[in-house]
Amino acid sequence: MPSRLPSAKAAVRSDYLAFGRPDFSVEEIAAVTRVLRSGWVGMGPEVIAFEQELAAYLGVPHVVTVNSCTSALHLSLLVSGVGPGDEVIVPSLTWCSTANAALYAGAHPVFCDIDPDTLCLTPALVRRQLTSRTKAVVVVHYGGLAIDIAALRRALPARVRIVEDAAHALGGKYPDGRMVGASGNAVCFSFYANKNLSTAEGGAIALSDNAAADRVRSLRQHALPLDAWKRFSHPKTILISNQLTELGFKMNFTDLQATLGRVQLKRQKEFARRRRKVADVYARRLKKLPFPVRLQAECTADRHARHLFTVQFPWSRLRLDREQFILAMRARNLGVTIHYAPLHTMPLYGRKGRRPEPLPGVEEVARAIVTLPIGPRVTPADARQVMDCLAEILAGRE
Ligand SMILES: *Cc1c(COP(=O)(O)O)cnc(C)c1O
Repeated sequence: MPSRLPSAKAAVRSDYLAFGRPDFSVEEIAAVTRVLRSGWVGMGPEVIAFEQELAAYLGVPHVVTVNSCTSALHLSLLVSGVGPGDEVIVPSLTWCSTANAALYAGAHPVFCDIDPDTLCLTPALVRRQLTSRTKAVVVVHYGGLAIDIAALRRALPARVRIVEDAAHALGGKYPDGRMVGASGNAVCFSFYANKNLSTAEGGAIALSDNAAADRVRSLRQHALPLDAWKRFSHPKTILISNQLTELGFKMNFTDLQATLGRVQLKRQKEFARRRRKVADVYARRLKKLPFPVRLQAECTADRHARHLFTVQFPWSRLRLDREQFILAMRARNLGVTIHYAPLHTMPLYGRKGRRPEPLPGVEEVARAIVTLPIGPRVTPADARQVMDCLAEILAGRE
């Protein structure tokens, strides 16, 4: 246990360096203003254009936008046929949405271990959790490192569907070089404030299957035969009655968000360049610390979407614990955080999920991991400042 807290020290910068603040330029502001002035802010032509542009960027036949990645995961499980009593295998080291999507569908999340090097599940770890009730696996491309989805497909029975939680992985690539999203599975993205592409809130599903795409398009807006924009833009639709035949959801995206997304999509290359520079500073400096740290595999590789930059420290060998370290960094206005508290120990899932065995990989990582600030507004100079303070606090030279 640490003997002494680092001395209280004034912030090293006047603004708080948040781990993932979005970058909105005058172009996003102009786009939103244009939509506001147009008088149509709901789901309409901007949504259609954004879906087409994102589909072209990913190289997939269909992109269907929704109001969040949580909704995208929920609808993806529904169109994969997941229902009450089914089991859905999910990693434990993820945001709650990944497992909650299974609960929304009436299914049981079954938690899976991860490889402490990649921070992702592996085919062998997934196979350990298979039962006759397994209906689907939700893969998380942790931090933006996409797993080998083709290898996972080969390792699973054909009846088990794969859904991808790619909330971190927009712009990333699978080991075979294709864009994350182009696997043929239902691949879910998030446009939450701190994600690689931000529309404040929002999400999308990339799909190859025509019928599945039609189905999620319908389910996102009450399973109406015609969405609001089609009713508005085709005046004769007053003659068409909206006969509901099933219970859908109110999960649609809006033109106000889509117009932001269209500008953010054009800026992805620049954002990726900025993230790479920051990741390179961290990786180089972390390797020079006087104690060994564990970085995520391929954290500086080109195919990594670099949504998160994480590092695992050997806390038992250091002079302060993780909480003290995070507080010391935050006192300096450096926004260090943790992704994630593992789900398999949370009371919600203890009641609803099945946890047949301990998950040593997750437990080891969850004790050690820290997320350093990265994002479109974090500069290499910021990263050097983070590393200067980190080295000073952990080495105790103060
Ligand atoms: C952010 C996130 C989500 C949820 O995204 P929302 O758009 O906020 O619903 C799901 N999974 C992971 C891994 C995430 O990081």
